[in-house]
Amino acid sequence: MKIVNPATEDVIADVELADAAEVDRAVERARKAYPAWRAVAPGDRARLLRRFADLVGEHAGELARLEVDNAGHTVGNARWEAGAVRDVLHFYAAAPERNHGKQIPVPGGVDVTFQEPLGVVGVIVPWNFPMLIMSWGVAPALAAGNTVVVKPAEWTPLTALRLAELALAAGLPEGVLQVVPGAGEVAGARLVEHPQVAKIVFTGSTEVGKEIAAKAAAQVKRVTLELGGKSANIVFADADLEKAAAAAPYAVFDNAGQDCCARSRLLVQAEVYDDFMALLAPAVRGVKVGDPLDEATEMGPLISAEHLERVRGFVADPWLQGECPAGKGFWFPATVLTPDVADPAFTEEIFGPVVSVARFTDEADAVRIANDTPYGLSGSIWTRDVGRALRVARAVESGALSVNSNSSVRYWTPFGGFKQSGLGRELGPDALAAFTETKNVFISWE
Ligand code: NAD
Repeated sequence: MKIVNPATEDVIADVELADAAEVDRAVERARKAYPAWRAVAPGDRARLLRRFADLVGEHAGELARLEVDNAGHTVGNARWEAGAVRDVLHFYAAAPERNHGKQIPVPGGVDVTFQEPLGVVGVIVPWNFPMLIMSWGVAPALAAGNTVVVKPAEWTPLTALRLAELALAAGLPEGVLQVVPGAGEVAGARLVEHPQVAKIVFTGSTEVGKEIAAKAAAQVKRVTLELGGKSANIVFADADLEKAAAAAPYAVFDNAGQDCCARSRLLVQAEVYDDFMALLAPAVRGVKVGDPLDEATEMGPLISAEHLERVRGFVADPWLQGECPAGKGFWFPATVLTPDVADPAFTEEIFGPVVSVARFTDEADAVRIANDTPYGLSGSIWTRDVGRALRVARAVESGALSVNSNSSVRYWTPFGGFKQSGLGRELGPDALAAFTETKNVFISWE
């Protein structure tokens, strides 16, 4: 497959796509590598993961550049992403030595639990944050003693392949972490169907997630699903409006809106609607769109011509549109819509730099609109009233909320979706549990 730079449309690499037989060979290698990897002493496994993390840190500039060229990320965002991959690996490097079970009081003997690895884990990754989302699955899976086969998105395999090389350079044994670029319906599907793959971590669209869940269910295969979103950014009249308006563009235009946590529905309390929109307009016009390698750029291109067309299809009669480059590259401007709440622009995940604004009357109305969606991934609440912040945060059906902030993902804390935004949690202190089975052993003393 020709890999294209979305900012220039230049072909930057030629990547061989794995067929089902190649996936089978990768799974077989992973299966062979598993007994020795799970037997590595916890401290040694931790050291290998730390060395891998350090190598990622040392190559952060190179990885960031690959992500800029392949995924159209701005250079600042890509550098942050490479640093975050390093941090996620460091965080889980601490896990092998803390992966302990319990001793439970029972009559007639001793009862202990063990946290056993699962075996071969398949990690299927989307194109929006290719290396970071890969690390969310890979780091805890390896830490728990599993071996891993990664299927990157068709369009963005380059950082995944480089990370696999760095893992080998760090001393991870052959077969412990493999990357098979390939088509979703071929390589991805085979990974899901393969009877020797114990678990699938899938991040991508809700549509494909449902298909994967159904196939996995046929084998009672474990799954973690991180799916789509249509998150709400709720601005109450008592909020610091200037702060909320200045932050709003970054809540949705980050990574050109190709962010599962994008707050693509902006809900503003009616009595401050006009004031807020007057503050929002210059903030949106000020978003700098262009060359991703320019340090001043805040928004790059969309991933592909096909995706650009899809995004364009949602936009009619914009309230405001910023500027973007003409000519080569898959550019779309920062766009603000004020559609009816039944309009597809308000209900469907656009995955582009488009925010749909609506008014609400009171707290209950805000919660009702925020929850009127099959999704439940993220969201923000802007208010100075602590009680209201807590009441609304508890009432919104969503996995990752922030108050007076756009922050969604921090590797110290759990991340995942309510409703059709996903199943299970990644990151945080408990993610290891998703990559282990609890085994109970009773030893009789009678
Ligand atoms: P996608 O579902 O088209 O593809 C995701 C991955 O699945 C790719 O690697 C693809 O090749 C593979 N795939 C496709 N069909 C498959 C099949 N039948 N069997 C197995 N694998 C298959 O999604 P995308 O367009 O790459 O990514 C965008 C979507 O991902 C958005 O909906 C976004 O919200 C979501 N996303 C969610 C999170 C989260 O953490 N919740 C994070 C990032 C992206």
